[in-house]
Amino acid sequence: MAMRKPMIAGNWKMNGSFELVTELSSAINKVKSAKIDVVVFPPFPLISLLQQQGITVGSQTVSEHNPGAYTGEVDAQLIKQCGAHYTLVGHSERRSIYGESNQRVADKFARAQQVGLIPVLCVGESEQQRVTGQTESVVAAQIDAVIDKLGLAALKDSVIAYEPVWAIGTGKTASPEQAQAVHKFIRDKIAASDSDLAQGLTILYGGSVNEENSEFLFAQPDIDGGLIGGASLKADSFTAICESA
Ligand code: PGA
Repeated sequence: MAMRKPMIAGNWKMNGSFELVTELSSAINKVKSAKIDVVVFPPFPLISLLQQQGITVGSQTVSEHNPGAYTGEVDAQLIKQCGAHYTLVGHSERRSIYGESNQRVADKFARAQQVGLIPVLCVGESEQQRVTGQTESVVAAQIDAVIDKLGLAALKDSVIAYEPVWAIGTGKTASPEQAQAVHKFIRDKIAASDSDLAQGLTILYGGSVNEENSEFLFAQPDIDGGLIGGASLKADSFTAICESA
């Protein structure tokens, strides 16, 4: 993992409860150390609560707009005020279920940084795109939308999460070699313009990470940690994954 600090992120998706906050926060507080960053992405109403338990938190999405008449949306500044340090942008479920385009994801990325939230930009190809050889072009386009809007330097205060769509929630993890190949592609692409930025950039892998496969994924040179869905809801699994980083 070079000189980068490992990061383990738990994406609770539309799961969680006050009880889960109590259970997971006490488990996470036991494994927390200065050597890794552990971040939890709960549903909005649990952000403050988790933060009050000493957990570093982020939101799962953020509005691209400034405050105003956008019923049901949540403003980035308010998310920050609730105690979040990060926000996911462009998770594949947001892209596929809610129709978020690369452009809209770039707008969310911009709004997050504007208020000082660190965006975790989620990228990844579908099974069909992988089979037809489009993995690199799809991932490059997802990253380029942000670079085109904000310039390359914007990636400095961000995290990238590579999550192949076919591996999310399916139990089909990318092999460590498959994941490493895409992580290296991302880092090399950025290094072509700014090698220091590329070397410092945290790139997480996500998609069916569990306590059995995590140490092999995290042993890859360009994989700096994980974005964990299903396994982040179970204290034993999540803490074991943290310990393997
Ligand atoms: P999963 O989800 O670990 O359940 O595959 C990962 C994610 O969607 O971030």
